[in-house]
Amino acid sequence: MIIIGGGVAGLMAALAASPRPVTLLNPGPLGAGAASAMSQGGLAAALGADDGVALHVADTLAAGAGLCERAAVERIIGAGPKLVETLLRLGVRFDRHGDALALGLEAAHARPRILHANGDQTGAEIMRALIARVQATPSITIMQATARKIVIGDNGVTGVLAVRGDEVVTLPTDNVLLATGGIGGLFSHTTNPEGAIGHGLMLAMDAGAALADLEFIQFHPTALDVAGASLPLISEAVRGEGARFIDETGAYFMHGGDLAPRDVVARGVFAHVQAGHAVFLDARGIGARFATRFPAIAAICARAGIDPATQPIPVRPAAHYHMGGVVVDASGRSSIEGLYAAGEVARTGLHGANRLASNSLLEAAICGEAAGLAMAGLEAKRPRDVRAGLPPLPDAGPVRKLMSAHLGVLRDAAGMELAVQAFAGMESKNPAAGLALRIALAGLARKESVGAHALAGGKQFCRAA
Ligand SMILES: Cc1cc2nc3c(=O)[nH]c(=O)nc-3n(C[C@H](O)[C@H](O)[C@H](O)COP(=O)(O)OP(=O)(O)OC[C@H]3O[C@@H](n4cnc5c(N)ncnc54)[C@H](O)[C@@H]3O)c2cc1C
Repeated sequence: MIIIGGGVAGLMAALAASPRPVTLLNPGPLGAGAASAMSQGGLAAALGADDGVALHVADTLAAGAGLCERAAVERIIGAGPKLVETLLRLGVRFDRHGDALALGLEAAHARPRILHANGDQTGAEIMRALIARVQATPSITIMQATARKIVIGDNGVTGVLAVRGDEVVTLPTDNVLLATGGIGGLFSHTTNPEGAIGHGLMLAMDAGAALADLEFIQFHPTALDVAGASLPLISEAVRGEGARFIDETGAYFMHGGDLAPRDVVARGVFAHVQAGHAVFLDARGIGARFATRFPAIAAICARAGIDPATQPIPVRPAAHYHMGGVVVDASGRSSIEGLYAAGEVARTGLHGANRLASNSLLEAAICGEAAGLAMAGLEAKRPRDVRAGLPPLPDAGPVRKLMSAHLGVLRDAAGMELAVQAFAGMESKNPAAGLALRIALAGLARKESVGAHALAGGKQFCRAA
């Protein structure tokens, strides 16, 4: 069994599959290049005395704007409290108030339910604990390599081709889990690692797997506005502590909506930038407490020469999370026999048109574990064969500007049509353009503004949950 990707989803799958032998592919050392290690705010689970799974389910359905699948929401959210027990057993040290787990509040959550670690370094702590377990598990072989093709025979998966340095590695197998993360790197500005260009989705497309909801891409309103494509994130929790948006004139322009749902805030910030303003987060009210409450963000700001206690922080919207992906069932099974997916690359039905903050680490861990368990229980049944050629290397460079201009925070049909034409001309030589084309076509096909898919001038639409 092969797992492609060493973020939370891939590591949880590998641990759940033990003692079944697993080869886990990751391009670099575990942790590097994974969004999981960068997660700040935390992991949502209904653990508070005044909270319950039904409330967490209701918040998730509301954020998804009527396009979540209720059964998936109830299954995944319902598994949250047990997952926290599992993570504690695996050695994750969440922050506590005395003996009790500390629960933070985030926008669009009705109750405090965000578990966090070391203040704003939740993902790094979860990854630390999981990597230590994986490295101590003899059934897991870690290979530093990039998967380049999933080989498909008459009845499903027969192998994987990977590249390690200059060498092509052939891996015969009949079960593969894609746990390759998101697509933010297809845009000019993203909070994701730069390499998160949706490579797993390209592999799944090439294999013929069904994909869905590709048009739903969440933009975070507060990436630090510095040079480069991969921008550090300034967590929503900073606004939770009282920071407010201002522009270069010092004017507050969100009119009290600073903590509105993420897509609403992203559109407000985007519109202000489009109107020619510079946007800042004014956290001066938090004062000297900033450095102790948000040590990692304080360090990020310091590297950019900004002291949040005395200076406004320059921010801009950036591509953050992909709700769409490989269509999977409760065990992570895709439409192709032997091909599984979990984490951000998968489309489980949990997020619908928009993800509720802090539901994605939860989903990656729960669904990674479920896929690992399901795959470990399978009997080998298909012939294994790796005779196939390598597809062209994906190159996000030529698609980034077009994706940002036409598939960004606000979209319109004319722009998406332009993008479709441009991507169609490049797709045969560049799988990144092929994926961008599928995203643009999905955007064009969605005629109403709903969740994270916002049409310029369109009225925001929400189906009944
Ligand atoms: C800055 C930031 C902050 C966030 N904060 C939160 C938060 O507070 N709470 C929350 O719930 N979510 C948060 N998210 C989202 C969350 O981190 C991700 O959705 C989640 O971690 C995804 O986990 P994953 O295992 O699917 O992917 P990742 O953690 O991204 O791991 C994917 C791995 O696959 C590897 N890979 C990719 N392609 C290949 C290939 N072809 N071959 C081999 N390996 C490959 C990558 O290198 C990477 O190591 C945040 C995201 C970012 C970027």
